[in-house]
Amino acid sequence: MKTPYDDRGRLCSIPKLSVSQLGWRTLGLKSITKDAVTQQEQAVTEKRETIVALIGGFIGYWLYGWILNQYVQQYVGSVIDFVIHIVFAICVAMIVWYVFLGWIRRGRFSRIAEIYLSQGFCGSCGYLLDDLECESDGCVICPECNAAWKSDRIKQEKSTDPIA
Ligand SMILES: [Zn+2]
Repeated sequence: MKTPYDDRGRLCSIPKLSVSQLGWRTLGLKSITKDAVTQQEQAVTEKRETIVALIGGFIGYWLYGWILNQYVQQYVGSVIDFVIHIVFAICVAMIVWYVFLGWIRRGRFSRIAEIYLSQGFCGSCGYLLDDLECESDGCVICPECNAAWKSDRIKQEKSTDPIA
């Protein structure tokens, strides 16, 4: 498992997704995603997310056919059973995707931190890094989580679009 580090090589975390960000991610259509950070992040992780969801869907489909199918079909008939089979597979795919999302994001941490910083946000907690003094080593310290970032990686002008 990859561990996220800040620009002073200290352990940091990865920005948490807000409820609305998670909503956009669930929808999975990055073309209509509102905020720029989420949209760019989606582009970085979508391939892995798709693979993980497909594996989840496959496992769900197989599990249903193996265990549940024989019990359900005798009560509801084969058409409804098939619909439940598909819905079940989609639900398992969503659960597996959700469980692995944090792991996928950590795996692409350096790119994700880059995106947050380029929009003026802390790469560790997502706090807006605004009007902060630069330290002697060229780093700016996040007042929220103490992560250090090279000031030249952070967008200078004020961000007008806060994270939705
Ligand atoms: Zn921070």
